Amino acid sequence: MVCALLIAVIGLSIPMVSKHALDLIAEKDFNTFFLIILGILVAHIIRAALQYIVDYWGHILGVRMEYDMRKDLFRHLQSLSFRYYDKTRTGHIMSRMVNDLNEMTELAHHGPEDLFLSFMMLIGAFFAMVFMEWRLALAVYLFIPFLIWFAVKQRVKMSEGFRNVKKKIANVNAQLESSISGIRVSKSFANEEHEMDKFTEGNKAFRVSKNTAFKNMSIFMLGMGFTTNILNLVVIGFGGYLIYGGYMDLNTLLAFILYVNAFSQPIRKLTNFVQQFESGMAGFDRFMEIMEIKPLINDLPHATQLKDVKGHIRFNNVTFSYNDHEKVLNNIKLDIDAGKTLALVGPSGGGKTTLCHLIPRFYEVDEGEITIDDKDIKHVKIKSLRENIGLVSQDVFLFAGTIKDNIMYGNVNANEEELILAAKNAEIHDFIKDLPDGYDTNVGERGIRLSGGQKQRISIARVFLKNPPILILDEATSALDNETEIKIQRALEKLSKGRTTLVIAHRLSTIKNADEIVVITEDGIKEKGSHHDLLQIEGTYAKLYKAQFKGYIPDEID
Ligand code: ADP
Ligand code: MG
Repeated sequence: MVCALLIAVIGLSIPMVSKHALDLIAEKDFNTFFLIILGILVAHIIRAALQYIVDYWGHILGVRMEYDMRKDLFRHLQSLSFRYYDKTRTGHIMSRMVNDLNEMTELAHHGPEDLFLSFMMLIGAFFAMVFMEWRLALAVYLFIPFLIWFAVKQRVKMSEGFRNVKKKIANVNAQLESSISGIRVSKSFANEEHEMDKFTEGNKAFRVSKNTAFKNMSIFMLGMGFTTNILNLVVIGFGGYLIYGGYMDLNTLLAFILYVNAFSQPIRKLTNFVQQFESGMAGFDRFMEIMEIKPLINDLPHATQLKDVKGHIRFNNVTFSYNDHEKVLNNIKLDIDAGKTLALVGPSGGGKTTLCHLIPRFYEVDEGEITIDDKDIKHVKIKSLRENIGLVSQDVFLFAGTIKDNIMYGNVNANEEELILAAKNAEIHDFIKDLPDGYDTNVGERGIRLSGGQKQRISIARVFLKNPPILILDEATSALDNETEIKIQRALEKLSKGRTTLVIAHRLSTIKNADEIVVITEDGIKEKGSHHDLLQIEGTYAKLYKAQFKGYIPDEID
């Protein structure tokens, strides 16, 4: 701000000083004239240095803000719960993270000092001009309100256009994200053209929005240039008339021309500020929109650490729904003793996965409670709760990176030996060690370079390394062929030893030995008991089991 003030002072004095220098020529004092010209040169150099400071530090300020805000936004995104991600498109988040934040910090980059400098220049110049020749000053300043009105109006139009552009680019991003991550599906359906059409639609809307924005921008630039020229013309025309009438001398007119030209920059900046403010605030609103979303699942103030877990899990009359009109789980009662295995069986859509997701509190129960070792999971710290639960599911997600990175995700502090032991337990070590790069093999995006069974075993190794007392296996083997399944089954049996295990499996042969089997349908828990008991009562389970051996599936069961 201090530098900006000095810049304004220098900028305002130069025309005035120049006029004095020219007056000296009339008095034939060439030496002083030359000294003043040198002085003005020095002033220009100082002004340039000050301008550098304002620009550089202004940008540094913006860059720091952007860094901090992006960090905050990322941290906030990490804290948001499943429900948020159930309904949000990745591309839209990307757009906010990259474009909107940038837009907003542009404002912080130059905003305040530009605004300050421009006001100083306009007001200072007004007084300087009135002091020199009030009639001409008045003529010039009659123009200014009109100029500002036009500039602001056109700027607003322009920024509305650019805001629209931003919305459209967010859609292009979202479309791109979805198309690229689904590229293998598109190809398998030979639907590249269809994807192209969908993309083109968004891309076209983006183009059209840019056309409008640029049209308004061109009108703005044209208007600004034109009015500045007219202003110059007025100064020369009216000034010439005043000189003719003997009200003013030529040197004053020259100083006026210098002032008028020093004007166009502040006015441009002022209107620039209006636009930056508009789009910066739009970006800020979009930033705050995310920041203001409360993470639905939080630690309660008195939450305690979940420690020394034995693994006794209980569902006390648990009811849950994703929306208001349909209960997915209704009044569920379950009791799993520490170290025991409970199997969940039932038609797809019955709520088995949902039930599993309630234990690590991915979603919050609507009614009832879930306890671990008789502690309500609502009253323990979420981090400690999740550290005690290992989840292996059907769709494995591997992060881009090496096999080692992916296994170590289970425990980033593990050492080499522990890593290899986990891989051995997951029956994947032999495969990894024969790879040219071994554990440092890159798995590609989402582990695309590995087979389903290999990915699954890496995800199991991850849980071995995590070593949690509670284990959830959600159809961990259903995507696999028989041979791989046997291997994985072996690994899973090893994994569940000594842990409380909740297992969901398609193939009932794999859960025969569970301590208890629960049949869950859309109406709730239908049957409960050991494999042997359930076959005896000849209910749903017995039907399912027989069907799997005969190779057909009765109608009533999905
Ligand atoms: P299962 O694992 O037994 O096949 P799920 O627990 O996946 O069943 O699903 C139970 C019901 O909840 C289904 O009707 C499904 O459509 C619905 N559902 C699952 N996940 C969500 C979600 N994230 N948002 C809304 N509804 C969901
Ligand atoms: Mg499921």
